[in-house]
Amino acid sequence: MFPYSRPMIMRRVVRCSVLAFWLIAFFCAPCNSEVLVVFRYDDYSATSPIEVDRSVINAFASRRMALTVGVIPYVCEGDIHDPMPQKTLSMDGEKAALLRASVRNGTVDAAVHGYSHQNRLRSPVGHFTEFAGLSIEHQRRRMAEAKSEVERLAGGLVETFIPPWDSFDKQTLRAAEAEGFRCFSASAAGPDMRRTRLRTVPVTTGLIGVRNAIEEARRQHNGRPIVGVLFHYYELRESGDARAVMSLEDFERLLEWISGQREVQVVTISRLLDQAVDLSPSRWAANAPVAWVPPLLRTLIQSSDSSGVWREQTEASRARLAVIGFGAFLYLAAFLAGFLSAWAVRRRLPALRGVVIAGSLLTSAFIFLRAAYYWCLGANSMLFLAALAGIVVGSAALHLTKRQGVAF
Ligand SMILES: [Zn+2]
Repeated sequence: MFPYSRPMIMRRVVRCSVLAFWLIAFFCAPCNSEVLVVFRYDDYSATSPIEVDRSVINAFASRRMALTVGVIPYVCEGDIHDPMPQKTLSMDGEKAALLRASVRNGTVDAAVHGYSHQNRLRSPVGHFTEFAGLSIEHQRRRMAEAKSEVERLAGGLVETFIPPWDSFDKQTLRAAEAEGFRCFSASAAGPDMRRTRLRTVPVTTGLIGVRNAIEEARRQHNGRPIVGVLFHYYELRESGDARAVMSLEDFERLLEWISGQREVQVVTISRLLDQAVDLSPSRWAANAPVAWVPPLLRTLIQSSDSSGVWREQTEASRARLAVIGFGAFLYLAAFLAGFLSAWAVRRRLPALRGVVIAGSLLTSAFIFLRAAYYWCLGANSMLFLAALAGIVVGSAALHLTKRQGVAF
């Protein structure tokens, strides 16, 4: 006989349906987030083409959107990468008038983007900087002059500093604090920003990655994730530059698409500073990529440097912890692989033991020399070093145990 009566079955069906409903609602509920999109248009200067500058500003103004513009007050006359002495250029009347009018009508939020944006390093490896490496007094002097000129041009207070090439050092942060900046905007993957009182709004993506970053932010993140979009005049085809990635028409289409998105707000850096948005160095630290973990693994775990999204602090800390855990496991696996290889060589090809140890030590020395030359030891090289360390330790341990008479 069937052990359940009809009402009992009905009750169970209803209970199971309610439970299933709540489970589905829990896992499928849309994220409770508002995506903040900041456009940062860098390199507005005496040498940027005014037609492109004007078109970009008009594209925002016609949609009642605003953007932050990184202004170079005294741009160098020639190639910004060339460290040889160059003349500097101030903005002419038309360019200055466009900036002032756009700041006045609320379309542009002006920021200081260096003094001349001229590289000062004769670097063989393509590292460019205007500020890093200078004394704090020198950096303060350049910043003070630049700030006062940009404020004169914009007709108001300017509170954000953007280091050219996102390159800076501790003295740059201290100089920016001393010169009265409230915000420092660089790359989310840039130098350490944990020990500063400045707030930060980093850039996380370029024009090509904006759509994906916004979709990712809406799909995966809670709170108020930030998508920081960096672009320059030369990325638009109308500039005639070979580095262009889209036409002005496509750019306008992109803005149109963004303006039609629900729960997406386009804001300037200054606007964010006035809102209750977490822009603290600790949020920066939680979002900073874990440099010793290979980029492929970071991408797989979707850390912010791969998704183009600057997450809320709690969420970013959770993702960072996962990256660190998987990273540590990967290093352990590499070490063990090296250790076991040493054991296999000793068992099967004992005559090669010396060659394997010498080869591992030589390769390690080569990796360190290369790192010293480029002043950078990448995560992939570090992982390889872990495997080489496994080989050397494995060989040494087996040698010692054999001398002490331990059988394997
Ligand atoms: Zn720049």
